[in-house]
Amino acid sequence: MKCPVCDTEVDEGARFCPRCGASLEDVKNIMVSTTPTIPGYRIKKVIGIVTGLSPRTRGMLGRFIAGIETIFGGEIRAFTTEIEKARMEALERMKAKAAALGANAVVGVDLETSDLGLGAGIIVITATGTAVMVEPET
Ligand SMILES: [Zn+2]
Repeated sequence: MKCPVCDTEVDEGARFCPRCGASLEDVKNIMVSTTPTIPGYRIKKVIGIVTGLSPRTRGMLGRFIAGIETIFGGEIRAFTTEIEKARMEALERMKAKAAALGANAVVGVDLETSDLGLGAGIIVITATGTAVMVEPET
């Protein structure tokens, strides 16, 4: 697995990143929701807006495969897989920022995909949300 903060390869199950010191445990435990609240939890404190970016280039191979699959009318798998990975990465980076701020959840999460276009094949996925401190409702 990779540290969501600095991209360093870290051992599976490691609790802290050896390079930047990010708490990987905290990042894993952060709850993420696209809704403004999490059922069963009460927002104790709003910390602020957090974002995570993930720029991608599809690369020649991806483009080639996507071309073939388009011809055969299938799903453009190479493309969707790459987007899926980029979305996960953007979310992980957003969670890492929230964890660094002492949040334990991110609510109102929105994922945006922008294609830089002009044939550059660069896609930027942005995850935005509100970092909050939540506690279970009693
Ligand atoms: Zn790190």
